[in-house]
Amino acid sequence: MAEHESLEFGKADFVLLDNVSLEEFMANLKLRFEKGRIYTYIGEVVVSVNPYRAMNIYGRDTIEQYKGRELYEQPPHLFAIADAAYKAMKRRNKDTCIVISGESGAGKTEASKYIMQYIAAITNPSQRAEVERVKNMLLKSNCVLEAFGNAKTNRNDNSSRFGKYMDINFDFKGDPIGGHINNYLLEKDPVGKVKGVFKCIFQLVKGAPDAQLRSLHIQRDPTAYTYIKVGGQIKSSINDSADFKAVTDAMKVIGFTTEEIQTVYKILATILHLGNLKFGSDGDVTLIENSKLVSILGDLLSTKDENVEKALLYRTVATGRDVIDKQHTHQEASYGRDALAKAIYERLFCWIVGRINDIIEVKNYDVRVHGKNTVIGVLDIYGFEIFQNNSFEQFCINYCNEKLQQLFIQLVLKQEQEEYQREGIPWKHIDYFNNQIIVDLVEQQHKGIFAVLDEACMNVGKVTDEMLLQALNGKLAKHAHYTSRKLSPTDKNLEFDRDFRIRHYAGDVAYSVVGFIDKNKDTLFQDFKRLLYNSSNPVLKAMWPEGKLSITEVTKRPLTAATLFKNSMISLVENLASKEPYYVRCIKPNEVKSPLLFEHERCKHQVEYLGLLENVRVRRAGFANRQIYPRFLQRYKMISEFTWPNHDLPSDKEAVKRLLQGCGFEHDVAYGKTKVFIRTPRTIFSLEEQRAEMV
Ligand code: ADP
Ligand code: MG
Repeated sequence: MAEHESLEFGKADFVLLDNVSLEEFMANLKLRFEKGRIYTYIGEVVVSVNPYRAMNIYGRDTIEQYKGRELYEQPPHLFAIADAAYKAMKRRNKDTCIVISGESGAGKTEASKYIMQYIAAITNPSQRAEVERVKNMLLKSNCVLEAFGNAKTNRNDNSSRFGKYMDINFDFKGDPIGGHINNYLLEKDPVGKVKGVFKCIFQLVKGAPDAQLRSLHIQRDPTAYTYIKVGGQIKSSINDSADFKAVTDAMKVIGFTTEEIQTVYKILATILHLGNLKFGSDGDVTLIENSKLVSILGDLLSTKDENVEKALLYRTVATGRDVIDKQHTHQEASYGRDALAKAIYERLFCWIVGRINDIIEVKNYDVRVHGKNTVIGVLDIYGFEIFQNNSFEQFCINYCNEKLQQLFIQLVLKQEQEEYQREGIPWKHIDYFNNQIIVDLVEQQHKGIFAVLDEACMNVGKVTDEMLLQALNGKLAKHAHYTSRKLSPTDKNLEFDRDFRIRHYAGDVAYSVVGFIDKNKDTLFQDFKRLLYNSSNPVLKAMWPEGKLSITEVTKRPLTAATLFKNSMISLVENLASKEPYYVRCIKPNEVKSPLLFEHERCKHQVEYLGLLENVRVRRAGFANRQIYPRFLQRYKMISEFTWPNHDLPSDKEAVKRLLQGCGFEHDVAYGKTKVFIRTPRTIFSLEEQRAEMV
């Protein structure tokens, strides 16, 4: 019996559940996890549960097993989805994309790597050197991005702190010829307070050669650095020096110059030294206590010590026609120091992504020579987040998930319904919750939460988070998906006065408004931008072009974090919408990285947030499979005496009807103008089995 049908491993497709209930869904998910079947379909969606152990299912032989096969012919696997996306691209000249979502630690990044590996393995059979070079660059750029964009945290040793979308471009032969990366909302803190430490920082301190560390004035001891201590991850791994070397080599291979690589490490060292900088006061005057660090910073940033000191202690302000230096208070100076560390890290990361793109982007593509250039996009992005304490970052992330859900609704439901119409299939419209109303709540012009937030940040006077909350309450009191403590004082789920709550499609989330204003604004003092721009290191200078402006010229406000994020989400969704989508939904089975533990409540939450049950219902209401008549006949004609070896019926459509009647599947199919539609995968599995017996 085929694996898909064997009850021992549960149902290989949730569409096959006897009853679509949360209980049955969970029971099947758990059974499969316990049997080591970490992948299960919902139609063409792969649901994946992190196994937290090495699985022997990604090797060369498995790749061969999936190569060029149809989805339902093999047990559920990422490779099947990757192959489906690749086939659609190659055979039908379609741009496709694979959207991978799930919470931190659910296995998204691993999944995206297996998908990339699969695509790398099945392409370029003729081993063209140029294509191999491109593949190598794409893999190496991943290595660099992981070092700079991923942190070691308590929950996950390799936690991505940014969302990543990567396009791979293919030529007409289906071989990779380049790529492009977009990154979304990097957690700016190189050492987010509870979020661990970015891997590159750790690799530098533990893994860089002695001479290099000396030139950066860095000690080998991670505990010597406040920012690392605050990040709380000082356990080293055995591979630190090998990892450090691998990342440096990867940058070289990609094409970073020696000067660029040196600057990258100087910036990391700068961040570590900044963290150790202490301010004191002498009467009204703010001072730097460890002034030795100032000259180290001057050296690393290729600028005069006094410039560093001045930028740390003073702010230049224009009052009317006069320009004066205003001394920071102790508190302002500390705030400025931390803002600087965050900003240079964020800028460094964006610069690295930009440099990689310069190099891997397809250049000189000539359609006449290479044929149509098609794309597979892979999106590895944070899923819905609900923490004890939800702030601006969770708000952005959850908004992102609303956008992706909206896309899912539009693509899957709309496309399906349109195809049924085109083919003349009777179709009863099915109801689903359209979350556009929540998307609007966040992003609508003038009235949306982002707009109210931006307005508050535009205000010249001091606007507090509390005032922001008042403004939100004022504008949104009537919105069905918005509430706050003020608006519903008796609501037990709103614990704090500073919370507002959104009813997301995936559940209710209370956000604390504290920090929203600060995180939305570009809070880096202009003095720092000028300091960095005036560096004699050309690489550093190029990262900070806006430092060119003098104090009197700075009039235009930089875009807020919310606006930047909103714009990047809108263009991401536009981009995905132009492609044929495939989905991977990742689930984290427990908090303790155990390969054995399936925590029921945790998993249930995720199933709910990911909207998986709704997904099954939509899928069941539609047809799992469709094929044009000639292709269907070609594959299954041997199982019926009416069609083997040839049929004498007036049309292929008639022949397919005869064949399916003969098998007793009449109730499960519908006949369109050009295609036969099959409702459940079970029918396909059964046809496949009968076929296997014949051939
Ligand atoms: P996410 O990107 O969703 O935060 P990751 O992909 O980084 O999560 O996975 C977290 C950890 O879980 C990995 O470092 C790895 O140890 C383990 N893991 C995830 N997927 C797999 C898999 N398919 N096989 C084995 N281990 C896995
Ligand atoms: Mg990740």
